[in-house]
Amino acid sequence: MVKINSNYLSLKDSYLFSTIAKKVKAYKEKNPDKRVISLGIGDVVLPLSEPVINSLKTGVEEMAKKDSFKGYGPEQGYDFLREGIRGYYSEFGVQLDEKSIFISDGAKSDLGNLLDIFSKDNIVLIPDPVYPVYVDTNIMDGRKIEYMNCNAENNYLPLPDFNVKGDIIYLCSPNNPTGAAYNREQLEKWVQYAKEIGAIILFDAAYEAFISSPEIPRSIYEIEGAKECAIEVCSLSKTAGFTGMRCGYTIVPLELECEGVKLNKLWLRRQTTKFNGVSYVVQKAASGVFSKEGREKVKEVIDYYKENAKIISKVFDELGISYTGGVNSPYIWIECPNKMSSWEFFDFLLTEANVVGTPGEGFGENGEGRFRFSCFGDREDIEEASQRVFKALNDLK
Ligand SMILES: *Cc1c(COP(=O)(O)O)cnc(C)c1O
Repeated sequence: MVKINSNYLSLKDSYLFSTIAKKVKAYKEKNPDKRVISLGIGDVVLPLSEPVINSLKTGVEEMAKKDSFKGYGPEQGYDFLREGIRGYYSEFGVQLDEKSIFISDGAKSDLGNLLDIFSKDNIVLIPDPVYPVYVDTNIMDGRKIEYMNCNAENNYLPLPDFNVKGDIIYLCSPNNPTGAAYNREQLEKWVQYAKEIGAIILFDAAYEAFISSPEIPRSIYEIEGAKECAIEVCSLSKTAGFTGMRCGYTIVPLELECEGVKLNKLWLRRQTTKFNGVSYVVQKAASGVFSKEGREKVKEVIDYYKENAKIISKVFDELGISYTGGVNSPYIWIECPNKMSSWEFFDFLLTEANVVGTPGEGFGENGEGRFRFSCFGDREDIEEASQRVFKALNDLK
């Protein structure tokens, strides 16, 4: 008789966003006159920029004509897009071989798919709190997980500990949910450690476009030796509003070897077997992100979200509440005041300020007593929500 992958039965149900939705709905039903503002979900709100839309339209027109129509595309993605990504990386001093770049339909799929090329016997090292995808994709494969604590003592940026070893190490910088970002020196420690113990770093750079501090690397490959121990996964979702378009890229350096086998070769084999690429029109739209005009527009949008982050951060600065993020990140991660639990604070904010955020507990044990605010929102909402949060917390004092 057929058997299921019983590892799926070990997955914890994720109640986080459904519980939030339920609580908000119940509150709105009881208080129909109140306008609730959400700073909860990590999804963008601004539309695609004009250079992207123009590229997309060009792609659509090409598909309508016999002599420019495109069928199956090249295995790793179109050259015009990979060339754009290569140029982008060279701006922060990273030289990529074009063969190391693989166009994807987003970071989430590749973060899961990459595990195909690694043995299920590997131990994974994952920070807590964390983007849940790293945990769940490994549970599905039945891999053993070790957690690294992220807390106020280490500024939510755990460093290598030779007593806690993993074969596959997940790093996300700037981090979701904490907004914390590793500086050069800290990433050097990780690279050194990975090389020493023979581990691979899976580096999630989904928020690299939010980095403005010069001491924070945009890519793990800014660190010497990283091409021999790290795979980088990135996405246009948060950078350029592609959450609904679906496009990202994964870099598997040609230098990267494991048991004498080039991982680039394994990944290419995996992709050509199980993936037929991202649609031409989406890749065409994505190429608009890397044009000169596109880059300027992306920066304007990111600056808008970062100004939102500043407005929210100011509330906590004025109240003397500790937090991380908000500088090189669209997220602000606070310590709940008065020792409230994450959910107590959620209820308090919903009822007293009509503002919704995300309880930190939903991202892992170390998230208890912490709370995430997302800065993806319209300026007016952000301003009003900030005033309300300030008032509610000030009254609490
Ligand atoms: C949003 C996000 C991604 C991007 O996912 P896509 O599938 O590209 O939309 C990846 N990693 C983290 C940590 C994220 O928050």
